[in-house]
Amino acid sequence: MKERLRSLLKTLMLTPGLSGHEDRVRRRIEKELADLPLSMRTDRLGNLIATLEGDEGAPSVMLFAHTDQLGFMVRKIEDNGLVRIERLGGIPEKALPAQAVLFCVGEGRDVQGVIANKSHHATPPEEKYKVTPYQEVFIDVGAEDAEGVKALGIEIGTPVVYDPRVIELNENRLIGTSVDDRAGCAVIVEVARALAAEGPRPTVHFVFAVLEEFNLQGAMVAARAINPDIAIQLDLALNADTPDMTQRGEVALGNGPAMSLYSFHGRGTLNGTIPHPALPKLFSDTASSEGINLQRTAHTGALTDSSYVQLVNEGVACIDMCFPCRYTHTSLEMCDLRDLEALTKLLIAAIRRVDADFSLNRDDYT
Ligand SMILES: [Zn+2]
Repeated sequence: MKERLRSLLKTLMLTPGLSGHEDRVRRRIEKELADLPLSMRTDRLGNLIATLEGDEGAPSVMLFAHTDQLGFMVRKIEDNGLVRIERLGGIPEKALPAQAVLFCVGEGRDVQGVIANKSHHATPPEEKYKVTPYQEVFIDVGAEDAEGVKALGIEIGTPVVYDPRVIELNENRLIGTSVDDRAGCAVIVEVARALAAEGPRPTVHFVFAVLEEFNLQGAMVAARAINPDIAIQLDLALNADTPDMTQRGEVALGNGPAMSLYSFHGRGTLNGTIPHPALPKLFSDTASSEGINLQRTAHTGALTDSSYVQLVNEGVACIDMCFPCRYTHTSLEMCDLRDLEALTKLLIAAIRRVDADFSLNRDDYT
């Protein structure tokens, strides 16, 4: 299982899919699921919904992750052939200079470029520790003028992502582009494979959602159509095991999957997720009986689209299940394959426990 996760995750990390332009990633996942007994459809926004029928008396489950990644859009092409960009999603400006990027002009025709960093020899002392705002950043694609840029297929509105890349570090760790949330997507494919192979199981809708890095609301549209009783989101948990992150909690890379007990954005958006009490209990009980170490997180500063999914229709019992991740939203995000494997096993065992007796009545959990 770990090797299958490694191989699919690498493929997905190398497939570009800026928010609003996720179709290549979706098609790759569709191919991966093609042999399973799922009914698949893609909605108008680009959400891929793959349904596996199960016990009709049990609450239905939506298991979802997002296919999109953050990046940029072309904002302006200068006469001298340099390209200006607009940011899309939570781009860390201090991690941009000297990065390679990819202009997604069409499969097989994509164009590489480099985010310029001012020559060190010309940098005065007062500029050495200054972050350049993205408005001042420019990208060099090797063209001599605007005509040269346009000849490459680049125009205003062309999607741009970090140049897709994977580096294998030691035995179990992968670092590269879009671990957030292609790792979640790879885990869902494995869960679908296992649940399809044998029962028992509730009806499960595997959703590969769009627009998370843009507005967190693509999955909400899928949830509205599916109307699930339970929704489980897979995304990253911030690590707390590097010297810069120790205040964030206790999550350590390689120490197992995590569940989120509280998230809140806290920077303008009044939203977050507090899980329905049935779900932390389901995952804690399953983890102890399966011998899986389950880490816990509770934090402000980030939210996922489960915060919107929980509010759909008459309310959906939601929880964020996570894999630990380092260096988030940079071009080199890190995860540990052992965490992904344990998360996969935990999800398979936990979803199997959702049967006709599984209660979502809050009074059963007080
Ligand atoms: Zn994410």
